Amino acid sequence: MAYDTQPEASHFVDGAYLEDTNGAAMDVIYPATGARIAVVHEATPAVIERALTSARRAQAEWAAMMGVERGRILRRAADIMRERNRDLSVLETHDTGKPLSETLYVDATSGADALEYFGGLAGSLTGEHVPLGADWGYTVREALGVCVGIGAWNYPTQIACWKGAPALACGNAMIFKPSETTPLCALKVAEILHEAGLPAGLYNVIQGAGDVGRALVADGRVDKVSLTGSVPTGRKVYAAAAEGMKHVTMELGGKSPLVIFDDADLENAVSGAINGNFYSTGQVCSNGTRVFVQDGIREAFLERLAERVQGAVMGDPLDEATTLGPMVSQRQREIVMGYIAKGRAEGARLVCGGAAPERAGFFVEPTVFADVTDDMTIAREEIFGPVMAVLGFADEAEVIARANDTPYGLSAGVFTRDLARAHRVIGQLQAGSCFINSYNDAPVELPFGGSKASGVGRENAKAAIEHYSQMKSVYVRMGDVEAPF
Ligand code: NDP
Repeated sequence: MAYDTQPEASHFVDGAYLEDTNGAAMDVIYPATGARIAVVHEATPAVIERALTSARRAQAEWAAMMGVERGRILRRAADIMRERNRDLSVLETHDTGKPLSETLYVDATSGADALEYFGGLAGSLTGEHVPLGADWGYTVREALGVCVGIGAWNYPTQIACWKGAPALACGNAMIFKPSETTPLCALKVAEILHEAGLPAGLYNVIQGAGDVGRALVADGRVDKVSLTGSVPTGRKVYAAAAEGMKHVTMELGGKSPLVIFDDADLENAVSGAINGNFYSTGQVCSNGTRVFVQDGIREAFLERLAERVQGAVMGDPLDEATTLGPMVSQRQREIVMGYIAKGRAEGARLVCGGAAPERAGFFVEPTVFADVTDDMTIAREEIFGPVMAVLGFADEAEVIARANDTPYGLSAGVFTRDLARAHRVIGQLQAGSCFINSYNDAPVELPFGGSKASGVGRENAKAAIEHYSQMKSVYVRMGDVEAPF
């Protein structure tokens, strides 16, 4: 172990850490240095079986508990997460490379928010009474059973909580498989949940790559699958889940538009574009990577943006002065550098950045391209790195049509001082999670998720309850039963 906040073993199953060195070894690399900081072992069939059996066993009793009792455990876990925020943030930084100046504020804290919010809701998950003349009916909100969560590598603590908290609040068990790139954080979430009193088996974390995910999704004992990942993986997982008629939530990628009108507050618009492109070194699914800037403000916007980007502090993510960390992996850096090369080759104008600095770790400079056109690769494909594409536009109707001309529909943002226009434009943008004069806020109180190819279902808010529970309807006849013969 490289430092003392690391989890004790590869898996957390049936209430305890579990190791099985028969599983293939997977190195955990600290993205800021390229050094190996831990080794975890892929779940063997025996580990997968224990996760499924214990989840199945524990779930029925959990669902039968009072909602407030379930909620109390989740809220206690939220308190523990907040108390240990610094340790959890350091771990998140080691797992992902994201700077501590971010992880201290948006990872364990956001996970704790989800545990607190859904813990609070757990006691109020009721159905309704339906008057039917002399008869009546009622609905009951029931758990689905065993849920599988499959995570991406950009927000390992947050994703583990955003899936786990509503699942557990509704009376389900959760088996979570983190991305093989960032396997450590979810184990700590499991540890804390059990420390808070969660009965064994209800939140299991097992490691592995796509094969382990595939095995879980295909298993007949699994009732629901929630994936955060790319669209191609989403298609595969959705299809596999459909075979078993399982419920799904798909939180997938995007190529979201951020529209800046001439009358926008320039400084705020630049801040929005920075938050929507360079936070977490651009590894955020909802990023507004197509920045449409109206003709009258565009040169001033680019000038101020270039100045502000010079203020990014790239360096040791554990130094709280650092504001830009590395990419999560060598592979992701190669992908991003490939897109930067395509941007140049296809004729976009490089305003700043564009290079991978000569230093250890998987760093890429914050990069801005101007004069980007709709057909360029960097305007069409999700890059998942610190690469902003700035496009011009003349009028509202034009920008709405161009913003919607994408298979994705995760997010969209508008900057303008004209609030009527802001609502009119947002109303026409095809996206699930939208922002007016802001970008990338994700409070647990608001539903989060995409339309079109970006996803199915919603995480967070009361909307998530719909996706982790099912309705039972009961018709109650008060009189005699009539029958035709
Ligand atoms: P991937 O789609 O490659 O992987 C997502 C997860 O699915 C990983 O845990 C992966 O395992 C697993 N997996 C891969 N293949 C299968 C399969 N056939 N069956 C079951 N599980 C499988 O995404 P990344 O981890 O590379 O994350 C980046 C992507 O995630 C980006 O495209 C981004 O847009 C999207 N994303 C979406 C978010 C949202 O909320 N909408 C949030 C964050 C990211 P392994 O990696 O171990 O092989």
